[in-house]
Amino acid sequence: MSKIKIGSHVKMAGKEMFLGSVKEAESYGANVLMLYTGAPQNTKRKDITELNIEAGWVYAGKAGIEEIVVHAPYIINLANAVKPETFELGVTFLEKEIKRTAAMRSNILILHPGSHVGEGTEAGIAQTIKGLNQVLDNNEDDVFIALETMAGKGSEIGVTFEELKMIYDGVHKKDRLRVCFDTCHVNDAGYDLVGDYEGVIRRFDQVIGMDQIAVIHINDSLNPCGAHKDRHANVGRGCIGYEVLKQVVHDSRFAQIPKILETPWISEEGGNGKKTLPPYKEEIAMLLKE
Ligand code: FE
Ligand code: FE
Ligand code: ZN
Repeated sequence: MSKIKIGSHVKMAGKEMFLGSVKEAESYGANVLMLYTGAPQNTKRKDITELNIEAGWVYAGKAGIEEIVVHAPYIINLANAVKPETFELGVTFLEKEIKRTAAMRSNILILHPGSHVGEGTEAGIAQTIKGLNQVLDNNEDDVFIALETMAGKGSEIGVTFEELKMIYDGVHKKDRLRVCFDTCHVNDAGYDLVGDYEGVIRRFDQVIGMDQIAVIHINDSLNPCGAHKDRHANVGRGCIGYEVLKQVVHDSRFAQIPKILETPWISEEGGNGKKTLPPYKEEIAMLLKE
């Protein structure tokens, strides 16, 4: 039996930067991790030389962490067909983010397909395709762009599997694309993971192909199937529930795929409600139970 690959998103900040990320993952009993190369909401990034990459990997080797995935910031919105500045910023930043991902020795960069902000799904998808082609046509790095399945809040695109497939169809270098399957988002998008897990997987396989899943985000959802809300819940505290999430984690078809928790931090027990603690150590242990 190969080991289940499971971890959470972790910070990369302070003096230690990547070394700190690895130590944080180790403290959760994780063997994979996901990080943002800086704050997810902005484009301020430290230089690659300041990320402490080498020291982090040396430590990772001892901690049994062999793989990391990178998440691009939310401010990249290639689907924005309304403001050319936003689109251009997205393209430029994505190019740099691919370089940073490669420098961090990860070959997976997770990207939200974006929001069309009023022009409609088809215009948004066309714009995302244009952006991905601009970036990928001129890039040879060994990095996949993993398009995340979205919940459908606001004007998000990439909500249905068919929408993701449309992006694949328009991108020249399809072999550079993969999918990040987010359980909360898929539930919120209207796929009945609870009632028909196999049916959802079969549907994904028919439309895009199971082999395209490169990362799975393991999140419970505060809202029922089809709610289009995107509010993550702790494992077993939401509408998807422990059993289904555990089934995903243990699914042998996904054995080689990193599973990353993005569940919310929780208020300290007996605390004043201000301090929050990461739930990942407990949730990883819970999900690994046979
Ligand atoms: Fe995401
Ligand atoms: Fe996610
Ligand atoms: Zn989400």
